[in-house]
Amino acid sequence: MFSYLSHLQCSVCQRHYNADQLHTISPCCSKPLLARYDLSAVARNLTRNEVVRRPASMWRYHELLPVRDEKHVVTLGEGMTPLLAAPRLAPSGLEDKAHLLVKDEGQNPTGSFKARGMAAAVSRAAELQVRGLATPTAGNAGAALAAYAARVGLPAYVAVSQDAPESCIQQTRLYGAEVELISGLITDAGHVASAFAERRNWFNVATLREPYRVEGKKTMGLELAEQLGWRLPAAIIYPAGGGTGVVGMWKAFTELRAMGWLIDARLPKMIIVQAEGCAPLVHAFLHKMQEAEAWPAAEAHTAAAGLRVPSAIGDRLTLQAVYESGGTAISVSDNAMMQMVHLAAQRMGMLIALEAATTIVAYHKLLATHFLEPEDETVLFFTGSGLPEVGKYSL
Ligand SMILES: *Cc1c(COP(=O)(O)O)cnc(C)c1O
Repeated sequence: MFSYLSHLQCSVCQRHYNADQLHTISPCCSKPLLARYDLSAVARNLTRNEVVRRPASMWRYHELLPVRDEKHVVTLGEGMTPLLAAPRLAPSGLEDKAHLLVKDEGQNPTGSFKARGMAAAVSRAAELQVRGLATPTAGNAGAALAAYAARVGLPAYVAVSQDAPESCIQQTRLYGAEVELISGLITDAGHVASAFAERRNWFNVATLREPYRVEGKKTMGLELAEQLGWRLPAAIIYPAGGGTGVVGMWKAFTELRAMGWLIDARLPKMIIVQAEGCAPLVHAFLHKMQEAEAWPAAEAHTAAAGLRVPSAIGDRLTLQAVYESGGTAISVSDNAMMQMVHLAAQRMGMLIALEAATTIVAYHKLLATHFLEPEDETVLFFTGSGLPEVGKYSL
């Protein structure tokens, strides 16, 4: 069987829904629906060695992805990004000791990890015969949707906040999507995209408002386990906007553990980073809350567009992963991000997005407070490439 998808489940009340019908949020609780698989059947019928022999894309995990029929897979070669040793990104004096790795998501099609989520969501939506696709975006998600829609031959509409990076907007238009600039933040674009989708009877793939983008993002966690020889690191540091990446990876780890594929059942500390100018999840974590309060939109300022997310429907799930894993949440300044863009360029030869640079800042801070020690194997997620924005990086 190509996919072992069994049903969808409400992330709040656990109620089940038919996975072969189109769904957005759960009708019962208006919260994210999560895809469930027959994991014991996957464990019986598939081995780790078989996965490793398959082509190097995220679709090597197709049993744990939602597309039923292989011919419906829409791919641009996303996934299986490099996991690189990066001790030279440690604070000076600790380079010899630091057990530091980076996963370079900037090498994905369209330049960010958003490609993974859109590859999964667009494939599955096309399989369920939608007529068109819509999304709100702060930049990268819109570009990724437009690319995969072009690849499969469906029309796409992207509502983008007007302060999104010009390079993303241009990229989205080039792929042929209809682009509307929205004054305000991604939350405002969210209302516009959902109204548009309803009017046209198109499908809105806003993150965690449909069940499959998070499945694509899950493959970051599956690959990480594979690349480390079916173990997991001590800690993962991830730049959280909507938080879907963290939710996806946490789901990956619990699925791998349920399948008995992990050599050591200990899961990593999930550490999220946000910008000081827009840190609703960090605020919630520091106040031990289960859900995040919306960050006042007028005060949401950061140059890292992917982190300009004042409120997100995945807040509860993201915080759950952080709490359950014994992780933490930390905010960092735009200045510090920019410095770390330079550090990554000059000490690693990598051009990274500002969002990605937050993880280096957080790593240094958490070593200073001894939340992490240099011996703790830590993986930074470089979620996006800095290449499109290189003209804006001051020298
Ligand atoms: C969207 C985005 C993020 C935030 O990811 P979430 O999974 O939504 O929290 C981080 N970095 C980059 C480059 C992004 O495009």
